[in-house]
Amino acid sequence: MTGDANDNAPPEERAKRAKVCPNCGKPRDPRYDPFCSKRCADVDLHRWLKGGYVIPGESDGEKPGDEDE
Ligand SMILES: [Zn+2]
Repeated sequence: MTGDANDNAPPEERAKRAKVCPNCGKPRDPRYDPFCSKRCADVDLHRWLKGGYVIPGESDGEKPGDEDE
């Protein structure tokens, strides 16, 4: 056992704790917090907008297996 609870944290969560850009992992720039640059902020924004067009639960073909049982 490592005893490190952060080991299971997803990359984004790790980036938060490390105070680095969640997009590329570089040190943040306070002006674009939590990102390192306008570019990374834009990338994330576009990703976010794209995801907004997708309606969750529309395709009901696959279900994640053992998640909460
Ligand atoms: Zn970045």
